[in-house]
Amino acid sequence: MSGNSTTPGGAPVPRPFRGGLVVLSGPSGSGKTSICSALLEDPRVDLSISATTRRPRGGEQHGREYWFHDRAEFDRMVAADEFVEWAEVYGNCYGTLRRPLEAAAQRTDRLMVLDIDVQGAAQLRQRSIRHVSIFIAPPSSEVLEQRLTARKTDAPKVIAERLRWARIELEQARLYDHVLVNDDLARTIAEARALLGL
Ligand code: 5GP
Repeated sequence: MSGNSTTPGGAPVPRPFRGGLVVLSGPSGSGKTSICSALLEDPRVDLSISATTRRPRGGEQHGREYWFHDRAEFDRMVAADEFVEWAEVYGNCYGTLRRPLEAAAQRTDRLMVLDIDVQGAAQLRQRSIRHVSIFIAPPSSEVLEQRLTARKTDAPKVIAERLRWARIELEQARLYDHVLVNDDLARTIAEARALLGL
């Protein structure tokens, strides 16, 4: 947790709503997706819809969760400099489209959430695009392993790979403006909302 963002009791100091961009990163199993969904319930909040080469999962729609493209189209978009950042995550490519992001960065009445990985967040940090960054951390690697196993969606090999990558991601947490340790989902959502003035 960054020094100036909490009260002595540990709760975040509520901030005014400023709109713009918020980057949310965290390992698979950190609860980042649930927190992102909760933030999106606010009518002032939009999701940054990334392009990806990953296949849609059940119920996902082109243009709602992601723009789904094949690798050739993704490569063309990279070459045309259409992404403000892009990275390979778990064998698939993901990228944030430049145009909608630059427009959203200027808005003070709406907030855009970027659910992106640590590699993408590092690229954004290097650019002069103003944003707030929040890293969602699991309480411990044991809890993370328990959560990934309990989901019953991934094979043991996949879980092991996600845990290995989680350790790499956790080393980057200190580069974010804020770190929220998700040991209680409702509380972490409240903390994220308070940080963003929601
Ligand atoms: P999933 O396939 O489960 O939706 O996402 C896998 C990972 O890719 C998540 O950590 C998510 O934050 C990350 N991701 C999604 N979109 C982007 C993007 O545009 N850029 C980067 N760098 N990572 C992304």
